Amino acid sequence: MSVIEIQDIYKTYTNATSPALNGVSLEIKQETIFGLLGPNGAGKSTTIAILSGLIKADKGIVKIFDKELNKNLEDIKKQIGIVPQEYALFPTLTCYENLHYFGNLYGLKGKALKDKINNYLELFGLEKNANKLISSFSGGMKRRVNIIAGILHDPKLIILDEPTVGVDVQSRKMIIDFLKEYQKENKISILYTSHHLEEAQEICDEIAIIDYGKIIVKGSPTELIKNHQVDSLENLFINLTGHSVRE
Ligand code: ADP
Ligand code: MG
Repeated sequence: MSVIEIQDIYKTYTNATSPALNGVSLEIKQETIFGLLGPNGAGKSTTIAILSGLIKADKGIVKIFDKELNKNLEDIKKQIGIVPQEYALFPTLTCYENLHYFGNLYGLKGKALKDKINNYLELFGLEKNANKLISSFSGGMKRRVNIIAGILHDPKLIILDEPTVGVDVQSRKMIIDFLKEYQKENKISILYTSHHLEEAQEICDEIAIIDYGKIIVKGSPTELIKNHQVDSLENLFINLTGHSVRE
């Protein structure tokens, strides 16, 4: 069974001159960490927005857990955890209050919710900041809270948009270590986007590189590096596109 199956999707935003997605196909297998990688503007967030049901593709098929997304949206949404690029937190509530709010949205309550929040806060090194306002948090701390908010309901699939962008080194390490551990322990699947190819090489079982709305290469990082006779995904990207990811 594949967890996500995207077949030949296209998306052109209203008033845009070129498509954000120009025929993208992807398959994400069970119990893997999949990295969708590419430079700014490549189409990563658009793909995530389509998978989250926020926007619709103009054309193509999107299946999650072998079911067509748009026909089973409510049911599928309950089983996935979405961690968007933008913070979805309330600045005037404390960290704990925010997480409690999201837990309630998922139907969690009482001691079970409280214990769960406290466990995650500890795991992410935030227990001492539980009762501080989110507005006083650094970018990296907010990102950690955002991830907790997205997984309180024990999703079978977690989708994260650039979880490690714009965060301090310590937060970044925590996030990466957490994703690796969490995936292994719970045997779930993770799709995450990044423009940091070195990091993806370290944690992903499979990757796809997207540029100008098209997938230019996909496979396991080790296989890709071997087959293309390069020493890193970064150099593979440069070889294939003639430019660097950071340009
Ligand atoms: P990434 O997440 O890889 O940086 P996006 O999916 O955000 O890329 O963007 C892909 C392309 O679509 C870019 O050219 C971007 O400018 C454009 N785009 C993104 N969102 C919108 C929007 N709401 N309206 C018009 N164009 C958009
Ligand atoms: Mg983006």
